[in-house]
Amino acid sequence: MKAVLVLVITWTVLVSEIVTTVQTASARGSRVSVTYVAPKDAAHQPIYEHLKELRFLEKLQEFLSPFQLPRILLVKVEGCDGNPDASYENDMIVVCYEYIDQLWKAIPLKTTPAGVTAVDALVGPLFDTCLHEFAHAMFDMLQVPVLGREEDAADQVSAYIMLHLGKIEARRLIGGTAYAYKIEVDAATAPPALKQFADAHGTPAQRFYNLLCIAYGADAQLFGDMVEKGHLPKDRAEDCKDEYQQVAYAYEKLVGQHIDPILAKMALDKNWLPDAKWRVPRRPGSVQTK
Ligand SMILES: [Zn+2]
Repeated sequence: MKAVLVLVITWTVLVSEIVTTVQTASARGSRVSVTYVAPKDAAHQPIYEHLKELRFLEKLQEFLSPFQLPRILLVKVEGCDGNPDASYENDMIVVCYEYIDQLWKAIPLKTTPAGVTAVDALVGPLFDTCLHEFAHAMFDMLQVPVLGREEDAADQVSAYIMLHLGKIEARRLIGGTAYAYKIEVDAATAPPALKQFADAHGTPAQRFYNLLCIAYGADAQLFGDMVEKGHLPKDRAEDCKDEYQQVAYAYEKLVGQHIDPILAKMALDKNWLPDAKWRVPRRPGSVQTK
């Protein structure tokens, strides 16, 4: 692909790859710049095209526009030489095509018993990961003090933001993200090795329960079935409201002052997700059995 589509350039990338830098009109003035880097691996071409078609990064950019960052934050999707990862460093978030492909491979063929649709299984964890990396960016750029593990705090910030969307979208995003953790838990064929617990991140099982707990703590009605059906044990659920309130207090105290309240209300009142029944395009060469 040789053509470079440039709408309004606000940031120039001096790299060899072909890039598409987009600044949408609605997000003009935003401190977030976004770039689709053309994939190096031809297998990632459909992901690149679908993301652009969905205007995924432009929507993310608009969603993040209420945050008053001191510098421009670049968010880009690009190939990571086989590493299914996402990261934040030096005012830049990178989401790897390999990570998105991993989510795409794992989507369910039909809606799960917990109500997670294929599109939610893809968009939920992708949005969560972007917000998790954005939390790292905020901690750094806004010099937010963090008590406890930064990876846990980033998970909490992401969940907290998702839970402030409308109830239907909050439920879909949390459901999709929990599904992705559960897939990781189920994929483990042996008991976790000791060194897995040395990771800066919680284990997928811990992140699954932490997510359900903060969701249930935020809205025991909307997520009540998580406890009734045994996805979140009652013993943990009892204190989830306190856990949620602790996150809410820290977030409002430390981050709240950096958010434009009018833009935030507009962003949170809006619907962002594709229709729940939207048919996720089939992944080329994939035999989807779940
Ligand atoms: Zn992280």
